[in-house]
Amino acid sequence: MSSSIEHIRHSLAHLLAAAVLEIYPEAKNTIGPSIDNGFYYDFEFPKGVAISEKDFPAIEKKMREILKTWKNFEEKEVSAKDAKKFFKDNPYKIELIEDLENTKEKITFYTSGKFTDLCRGGHVEDTKEIKPDAWKLTRVAGAYWRGDEKNAMLTRIYGLSFTTKKELDEYIAIEEEAKKRDHKKLGKELGLFVFSDLVGPGLPLYTFKGATIRREIINYSNELQKNIGYQEVHTPNINKAELFKVSGHYEKYKESMMKVMSNYSKEEYFLKPMNCPQHTQIYASEPRSYKDLPIRIADFANLYRDEKPGELSGLTRLRCFCQDDAHAFCREDQIKEEFINVLGVIKKALATYKMNYSIRLSLWDPEKPEKYLGDASVWNKSQKILEEILVENKIEHIKAIGEAAIYGPKMDVVTKDSLGREWQISTIQLDLIMPERFKLTYTDKDGKQKTPVMIHRAIIGSPERFMGILIEHYAGNFPLWLSPVQVKIAPVKDSNFKKAEETGKLLKDAGIRVDTDLNDVNFGKKIREAKDMKIPYTVIIGDKDMEAGVVTLESLDHGKVGAFPIEEVISKLTKEIKEKK
Ligand SMILES: [Zn+2]
Ligand SMILES: [Zn+2]
Repeated sequence: MSSSIEHIRHSLAHLLAAAVLEIYPEAKNTIGPSIDNGFYYDFEFPKGVAISEKDFPAIEKKMREILKTWKNFEEKEVSAKDAKKFFKDNPYKIELIEDLENTKEKITFYTSGKFTDLCRGGHVEDTKEIKPDAWKLTRVAGAYWRGDEKNAMLTRIYGLSFTTKKELDEYIAIEEEAKKRDHKKLGKELGLFVFSDLVGPGLPLYTFKGATIRREIINYSNELQKNIGYQEVHTPNINKAELFKVSGHYEKYKESMMKVMSNYSKEEYFLKPMNCPQHTQIYASEPRSYKDLPIRIADFANLYRDEKPGELSGLTRLRCFCQDDAHAFCREDQIKEEFINVLGVIKKALATYKMNYSIRLSLWDPEKPEKYLGDASVWNKSQKILEEILVENKIEHIKAIGEAAIYGPKMDVVTKDSLGREWQISTIQLDLIMPERFKLTYTDKDGKQKTPVMIHRAIIGSPERFMGILIEHYAGNFPLWLSPVQVKIAPVKDSNFKKAEETGKLLKDAGIRVDTDLNDVNFGKKIREAKDMKIPYTVIIGDKDMEAGVVTLESLDHGKVGAFPIEEVISKLTKEIKEKK
């Protein structure tokens, strides 16, 4: 029988501790669990010993030596007294043993070779299952004992571990590629956005280039949602607390909302974290009939969330962003069609962005009803509808308990970028609760007042966050339609400048974003800059081109495309932009 990868990872933590204690007999080992992709072990090293990555080769060598002498993990139940005696010099282990004693849990030791550790279990059955080349130590970090900053700071040594060397190598290669593609680094190099201490953390400033990409992402979402009947509205950034009291956000979400004060009223105001409550007020602004439904509203207003400063990261975790967030108010008999239409649009968008995806049905956690609005009967009803949609349309999906929104279950589209990393961006959510709370109604066929259903949905979620994801997904090589500068015009010599200017104007008039480089620098530098800035096309104009009445077109990805009359270049590029290739 082969053991799970978690067992292999945790066994390696034991091996790490054994090696460290052989090299540093004064060190004290504390705990060493398996984690995603590997393992760690926390140690207290004697004063004056500072472990760094430079020490890894020696520790790894010792681990491999010891591994050869290990066969398996021998379990032995021990009394608290014996356990404390064994670990008499290790106050951390004593503390763990006392905890086990207090909760009357079994105290077990696991021994392999000469090394014994206090442990609950979860190891390989045979140490041959640990491939000596399928793991590696990666980094050192400080960690407080038991995660409490009042406690001693320990040294945590991390390792990666996989079933095979191939998996380990692949993981390392992706990590390295991801580092190169880091959107914070590329965003700076390509001049897309900046942060300022004076403006504040999590509040990026988009340059002209970054704002152009953002605008293109928004325009595309808008185009897709217009096709399925959504109308764009615009709503204010601040709202009275009352609105969020009715919606339930005040009760369940307040710590993530930023408060605003008015000089003229004592009322509490908040920056809005989402558009839904406001959209209910557009719906409620006039009487609605069953024939008017669905009413579909889309909004790109700025949203604000009071994220912890430590959790902010580049464009992927922000305090200010917008969302292609939209809401459909419909009758119950329209839910399925609405979901299928939105799903179709999401699929189309992800195909354009060349991203794979899978679908996750996010359900509530019936054991923690206090986290949600509404009771079990409403949840059972809404969850059943979503399951039916997935089953009837034979849509493959996984279920995730506890991942629902506070007001209802979700169909989350988990996308995979070009490095195989998962991102949750698109979502369709069913809400039977908010319309009720806002007392929304429509007049049905029989003349009775009924409550509509609310569907919350996002195609790519936040354009700003998505831009961060796309920078890494494309490694900065944006497709033509998204590129802030689509064409660079590079005249070879001064005598070609006038022609370059004319050509630039023709492209600009055709709606192409062009940068005509009339700087007094040599031609080679112009071409290099176009590559560094990852501009998809360069139009070169030299004397020969001018004589032949053509321009030379070069592509960033494929080199020289050929020499064409400018009209041909314009129609080729216009087509490529329109098709979003
Ligand atoms: Zn163990
Ligand atoms: Zn919403």
